[in-house]
Amino acid sequence: MTDNVPRASDFSANTEELLGYNGEYADAFDAGHLDTAPLRHLAVVACMDSRMDIFKILGLDNGEAHIIRNAGGVITDDVIRSLCLSQRALGTREIVLLHHTKCGLHNLSEDDFKADLERELGIKPWWALESFVDPYADVRQSIQRLYATPFVAHKEHIRGFVYDVTTGALHEVTLSEGVHPTSGGGENS
Ligand SMILES: [Zn+2]
Repeated sequence: MTDNVPRASDFSANTEELLGYNGEYADAFDAGHLDTAPLRHLAVVACMDSRMDIFKILGLDNGEAHIIRNAGGVITDDVIRSLCLSQRALGTREIVLLHHTKCGLHNLSEDDFKADLERELGIKPWWALESFVDPYADVRQSIQRLYATPFVAHKEHIRGFVYDVTTGALHEVTLSEGVHPTSGGGENS
């Protein structure tokens, strides 16, 4: 693990510089009228990857969608928590999943990662790393989890994509034949 951790010798803290940018942003701010509920009734679940500008990739504007991100864009309990609130309280009815090529979770060994942590820290993580081998299969897994959870009621408009970080293009992932959304819970779109 320690062999392939990128060195951060060139690191210096960014926050003060960012606060300067925020001052400029606030001076020109004109979005104070936006509602809490997203205008497009859309939620996007995406990887945290720094190369993915979700707003630009999808042509979204401020106030139009919930953007829920974590390492991998994985459908975890916490993502389900956010989607449940998004649908029940804030009116979203469509979910777009964005995974991508060259992800930091790609081909990582979950067992090795956890074993290293346990050896170094004396405690084994109680969470799954959710590493994967095939980003397309990983999107399918995420779609399946959404179909399986009762807490995401509106399942009629769920689509998943792999974003190619070398071209900027999205490639849609569909479930294999014979796999269909479970019924129930999604009638009231
Ligand atoms: Zn990623």
